[in-house]
Amino acid sequence: MKKEEFQDALKPITDGLFGKQRATRYERPHFEVRLIEDMVKDLRSIEPVEWYSYAFSREPLNGKFNEEQRREWMEKSLACGREYAWKICEKYQTRDPKKMAEAMGMDISYPEFPEKTDRVLFAEYRVPNKICIYMDAVKKAEKLFERPGILELLEEGLDVSRLLLAHELFHCVEEQYKSEIFTKTEKVRLWSLGFLHNDSNVIAFSEIAAMGFAQEIMGITYSPYVMDVFLVYGYSPEEASGLYEEMMVCGGRTPRTS
Ligand SMILES: [Zn+2]
Repeated sequence: MKKEEFQDALKPITDGLFGKQRATRYERPHFEVRLIEDMVKDLRSIEPVEWYSYAFSREPLNGKFNEEQRREWMEKSLACGREYAWKICEKYQTRDPKKMAEAMGMDISYPEFPEKTDRVLFAEYRVPNKICIYMDAVKKAEKLFERPGILELLEEGLDVSRLLLAHELFHCVEEQYKSEIFTKTEKVRLWSLGFLHNDSNVIAFSEIAAMGFAQEIMGITYSPYVMDVFLVYGYSPEEASGLYEEMMVCGGRTPRTS
């Protein structure tokens, strides 16, 4: 994929950083552009567990759930991600996602852009052991670090590609532990008829747990969902502002206006 194609594919960004479940929307409305520093400051204050409305808004089965269920599953999925972070750190005796990936026999590559434009992603995991981190997005995000005040907000030494890698590694861990891990064993009954029934996995559980896993491994206090806005900002401050508004409202906050 060429650079221009990638940029085209990024607008509108409806999926955010890690999500890829949402169908394409019609043309997006316009948003008031905010400073990235201000948005990060506001979003950081949303506790990881308070991200449940946002996390489930990307879930195809979301309409079937109520508020209470979402909150409960948020807690359980986050706890699952953290638990496996400790487990994997212990198993491989490292907190470094790169070393972990090596020990797990993963094949990691760092191309500039994804090969296809049908799904816009900043990183992805492919069964059984492939992870791609797309560096154009990472570099753009890292450029924002040069702005005054940003590093303090994100905590010193935050490495975007490692954070992305940590998130994707969780999806591989999930595969390895699929017979016992919460995100794979917890299912939702879609329908039942006599002895017949159809149960489904819930994508949101996996995504939330991957965020919990990444947060724990990177040792950051805020939710990695903040990175959604950060990575999108490198391509479009306006799209990032739209995402920020959505996150703030989902988190029960009022988005700031200038
Ligand atoms: Zn993911």
